Amino acid sequence: MNTPEVWVSAAAASPLLSYFLGRFNRWAGLAAGTALFLAASFMLAGEISAGAPYAALALWTAAALAHSVFLNGGAGSVPDRSGLEEALARAARLQAELSLIKTETTLNAAGEKKSLAVYSAVKLLSETVEPQAAAKQLGKYLADYFETEEAALYIEGNARDGGRMELFAHGSRGPALPGYLELLAQAGGFPAAALAVSGLVLAPIYAGGSPLGLIALRGGTQGVDPAVRFADELSFALKRVILFRKVEWLSLTDGLTGLWRRSALDEKIREEIRRAAAFKTTMGFMIADIDHFKHLNDNYGHQFGDAVLRRVAQLLKEGVYETDFVGRYGGEEFGIVLPRADSAGVLRKAETIRARMEAEVFSQGLEKVRLTVSIGIAHFPRDGGAPEELVGRADAALYAAKEGGRNRVVDAGNL
Ligand code: GH3
Ligand code: MG
Ligand code: MG
Repeated sequence: MNTPEVWVSAAAASPLLSYFLGRFNRWAGLAAGTALFLAASFMLAGEISAGAPYAALALWTAAALAHSVFLNGGAGSVPDRSGLEEALARAARLQAELSLIKTETTLNAAGEKKSLAVYSAVKLLSETVEPQAAAKQLGKYLADYFETEEAALYIEGNARDGGRMELFAHGSRGPALPGYLELLAQAGGFPAAALAVSGLVLAPIYAGGSPLGLIALRGGTQGVDPAVRFADELSFALKRVILFRKVEWLSLTDGLTGLWRRSALDEKIREEIRRAAAFKTTMGFMIADIDHFKHLNDNYGHQFGDAVLRRVAQLLKEGVYETDFVGRYGGEEFGIVLPRADSAGVLRKAETIRARMEAEVFSQGLEKVRLTVSIGIAHFPRDGGAPEELVGRADAALYAAKEGGRNRVVDAGNL
């Protein structure tokens, strides 16, 4: 190949050089291509006379160089990251939005759980005809709402407890809270408004200005407000339950002594016999009858007689366990159910009661009277399996005690 052909080839190859270098940097490619073309042109200039073929080559080369620059577009320049950054920013925004939605959903779920707990509690209390059974379910709602098992609801007690609040419902650890009197001591009396004191939250429930109940809880980092809301929502339905319980209570208890009426005591006997039979335990039943009470009435008047009956009832209640049931069985007759007691224990208890009555001086004004009681005892399962049988045997023992001279205890097992 002679020299002009070498330079023509070099000039023609310059766009190729430009293109390949331009893959790395378009300006470097353009510069290299242009330099090769100019160098080749310079070398050729003296050897051939400018002619049409060369002009065509020059045009082709220029066009090819331009095309190479165009093809190599963004190569070698600083990559444009602004789009990516924008996309990343958008993703971050979406992420933040998503987590916000998640938090809100969780909060809503918690809020919904609370609303459901209040709603269920109010519905339960508004519809129940068996407050004691409802109390158990209510305890679960309390725990759900306050997110602590250490939550308790006290409500106005019945006349028997002197109107004191009594524990009505609680979460599974409710009893771990301080007792009612201790709670009041902590709060400095029955609270007028909800308060937080030594890790406890206390919220009173009022209706028409009079206290209906008290919510007490520990744990639950939620402060006083939720308790106030719960108390507000509950107050109306709670009033119904309290009235309901009062009516129920009045129909079950004796107006003069506050003891169970005969029908209620009979029911207790039935219940305790069932329980004793199921758990293979025993139970005792006794009937105590005041001796010559008619004389007392005749000599001192019915009013004094009534006062004596009240005092006897009180002594009987004090003389037995809290888990025992004391009822007024007739005018001056009292029945006592002693669950899980063995026969020797019942006999001892009856003797203690008899002695206690004998020792008591009943007084009203200037009048001072002493009296005695006779007691008949029956025992399950020894003396029968049916309630009537048991009562009949206790009655027979009582009759024997009267016959034997009064002021004594007779066990049906010894008849
Ligand atoms: P006994 O030793 O045989 O039991 O003689 P008693 O006089 O106690 O027995 P009786 O059954 O003959 O009389 C019971 C009396 O109890 C009749 C009634 O005057 C009196 N009594 C019954 N219920 C009441 C009451 O609610 N209030 C008063 N004050 N007395 C009552
Ligand atoms: Mg009598
Ligand atoms: Mg009698």
